[in-house]
Amino acid sequence: MTATTTTVKTAEDVNETKTASVRSKNSVHAPSHDSANPYQNALKQLELAAQRLELDAGIHEILKHPERELTVHFPVKMDDGSHRSFTGYRVQHNIARGPSKGGVRYSPLTDLDEVRALSMWMTWKCAIVNIPFGGAKGGVVCDPKQLSPGELERLTRRYTSEISIVIGPNTDIPAPDMGTNPQVMAWMMDTYSMQHGRTVPAVVTGKPVAIGGSEGRADATGRGITFIAREALRERGRSLTNATVAVQGFGNVGGTAAKIFHELGAKVVAVSDAIGGIYNPGGLDIPALQECANRDGTLTTHSSGKQISSAELLELDCDILVPAAIENQITTENAPRIKADIIIEGANGPTTPAADRILQERGVFLVPDVLANAGGVVVSYFEWVQDLQCFFWQEEEVNAKMEAIMTRAYRDVRQMARREEVDMRLAAYLIGVRRVADASTLRGIYP
Ligand code: NAD
Repeated sequence: MTATTTTVKTAEDVNETKTASVRSKNSVHAPSHDSANPYQNALKQLELAAQRLELDAGIHEILKHPERELTVHFPVKMDDGSHRSFTGYRVQHNIARGPSKGGVRYSPLTDLDEVRALSMWMTWKCAIVNIPFGGAKGGVVCDPKQLSPGELERLTRRYTSEISIVIGPNTDIPAPDMGTNPQVMAWMMDTYSMQHGRTVPAVVTGKPVAIGGSEGRADATGRGITFIAREALRERGRSLTNATVAVQGFGNVGGTAAKIFHELGAKVVAVSDAIGGIYNPGGLDIPALQECANRDGTLTTHSSGKQISSAELLELDCDILVPAAIENQITTENAPRIKADIIIEGANGPTTPAADRILQERGVFLVPDVLANAGGVVVSYFEWVQDLQCFFWQEEEVNAKMEAIMTRAYRDVRQMARREEVDMRLAAYLIGVRRVADASTLRGIYP
């Protein structure tokens, strides 16, 4: 790896420098526009890192493709007696550094390319925080809100049964993601265990504590985001106290991050869910909004602020913006209008590569998903270790160990960004992709 420039470069600038000589006169300076396909975006991000690392072309080719992709179509008996067919996926991107690990998403919009991208991001994320896992992801095309509890359980059990040929405590360990929760993980664990004739808690993480889950796991992703925010503010001579925060998405990640920001004395000025958002420059009462969301299924019925759209939230004047909902929220269209000083990506893939470039040029400091939301998989790793050892830790111990890993990873990435004069995403990729490539090289190609 070589530092070839003296001014701060965006990931895209590095690409520009390295590829300028091979571009035809008429070619567009790519990518000046967004791709809505998360896998294409993930490939673009990998390509930028591969170029900068001068990665062996063969290793780059290997890393572009998930190692294993399973698509399943399976029937579920609905409450009215009819049968419906559902489609599910489990994609394992890479296992060079250990068994694969990654969540399961229940969403009507999920598809194979989304799951591929998410599995690749998991590979880099585990490598960046240096835990011994590769990356995987799963998904079922369904709207969990439209299913009864019984239908959700039967769908989960059948999906688990279908993918049980590729998951296991030493091979691939699922966890919750959008649309799934600890109860879904409990059904997954039970189904796998029944098939094996014994209880196998370590087959999934994010389980309820009563059946081998870890203290601190439910809040881990959101808590990790607040550790990262604290570090980013510290560099600017500031603390979380009275820092203004806007959070898009009010589920496991966004809701928890908002709650902990509020507890730590930050001023959460706006939050949103899939229906809409709410804004109060004086600060919102997050526990009250959480109660409202639990009661009504949305926070938009609360009257403590101005109603805004989720898109408007992204453009509010605040210190910290946390997109914690879905992909492709910050694009070339709205990136020029983002007013936050710091963006901490709670969701996976909320910013397109073309928008990254605009934000960098405008001096917005962005901490990428593969670092910012890694607190979840770090505590999932702790859960897996506790399950395998049948020895469980107190929540303080879990939180302190996660804080140490997240803080160190942040500082490593920040140091890399400074040394190589690149943005935080490219810096994180330089660390993650390098570690995975080194592991692949050391192990060699079988046979
Ligand atoms: P969740 O299902 O618990 O919550 C998703 C939230 O986003 C909900 O409040 C929903 O209403 C909202 N939402 C959906 N579409 C929206 C839109 N267009 N605008 C605003 N809000 C919208 O999901 P989650 O587990 O919180 O996951 C959110 C993101 O974080 C995903 O990208 C996921 O991959 C990522 N992530 C989750 C974890 C985890 O531990 N759960 C870990 C790392 C990353």
